[in-house]
Amino acid sequence: MDYGFATRAIHAGQEPDPETGSVIVPIYQTSTYAQSEVGVHKGYEYSRTDNPTRTALHACLAALEGGTYALAFASGLGATTTLMLMLKAGDHVIVGDDVYGGTYRLFQRVMTEFGLVFDFVDMANPDEVRAALRPETRMVWLETPTNPLVKLADIRAISALARQHGALTVVDNTFASPYGQQPLALGADIVLHSTTKYLGGHSDVVGGAIITSHEQAYERLKFLQNAAGAVPGAFDSWLVLRGVKTLAVRMREHERNAFEVARFLEQHPAVERVIYPGLPSHPQYELARQQMQCFGGMISLILCGGEAAGREMVRRTKLFTLAESLGGVESLIEMPAAMTHASVTGSKLEVPAGLVRLSVGIEDVADLLTDLKQALADAPTRAVGQEALVANHSEA
Ligand SMILES: *Cc1c(COP(=O)(O)O)cnc(C)c1O
Repeated sequence: MDYGFATRAIHAGQEPDPETGSVIVPIYQTSTYAQSEVGVHKGYEYSRTDNPTRTALHACLAALEGGTYALAFASGLGATTTLMLMLKAGDHVIVGDDVYGGTYRLFQRVMTEFGLVFDFVDMANPDEVRAALRPETRMVWLETPTNPLVKLADIRAISALARQHGALTVVDNTFASPYGQQPLALGADIVLHSTTKYLGGHSDVVGGAIITSHEQAYERLKFLQNAAGAVPGAFDSWLVLRGVKTLAVRMREHERNAFEVARFLEQHPAVERVIYPGLPSHPQYELARQQMQCFGGMISLILCGGEAAGREMVRRTKLFTLAESLGGVESLIEMPAAMTHASVTGSKLEVPAGLVRLSVGIEDVADLLTDLKQALADAPTRAVGQEALVANHSEA
């Protein structure tokens, strides 16, 4: 389809039902399909293999990422696990040293048991990727921006390196969403999503997806999706389809609110550092402007008062709900070191204990700013904060 992004989000894979005229794709809540003779059917046999609601979601997600094929999964990690099944013992994977905690746990504590070998490198520096390449490197896995440190990787440069080497590049595009960034157009082979986040967008479903234009990779993944079985049900597929319809509008609002929140935090005396790719103070601001069309709603920050001040802040916010996950219409706040990223504690991927992560929602931004203002009212400011930071360091 040559339509624009917002049009594809609403229409791709979602033509009115030819039999009934139903404008919305029905929830095909069935496990199996009638055959008129052995092997004679309308393309559907069993819902682990294919389900019409899921088929519609596949078409829509492929259209949004500019890919030929998409596959939906029961969770982001279900999609990641299925991708790992493309590899065999002895294969080597280069991974960003700042990936989602669950991805790290799956690679380091599960997949290594099957003989896969992982190297974690700083993806902000393509030279580190080059140096880590080995003859048995089959995959380069990057997340950009990263969760939770909001670091960027140059998708074009790293994909080119991997391709020269015959390795597949996988980009976890969960943070940016396809509205914010299109990794396939930048040379990546495979895009992965936790559809739980911006694609679903309403914090009411857990899901994952893989999108690619690489035919062989798709054929293998389609086989593995059915063989391993981490598929989403019809209702969950429908919820993601429904969420995706408003992705463009939501992302514009997330970004607009995030800009105001980031600027507010940047000039707040209790805040040591704000990390948001849309701010000129982000160390990779130029790269962000090159490869992202929308900076999204994820902001990380460190308070002058360190971890103690962070814990107090997340306890005090009222509109920003203290919870894991991200990308929904409602604002969330959390401390990754103790929550989403607890599984990386003690590893090379450890995140600063005082890091606070905001998923800025699409509420009225004035209400969000009022909430943050009251939550930070008694937080130690710069002068006092320096001592707190020093104290924190001597503990570690
Ligand atoms: C949440 C998340 C995942 C895992 O997805 P689930 O749907 O929770 O399994 C993977 N990558 C990123 C960047 C995430 O935020």
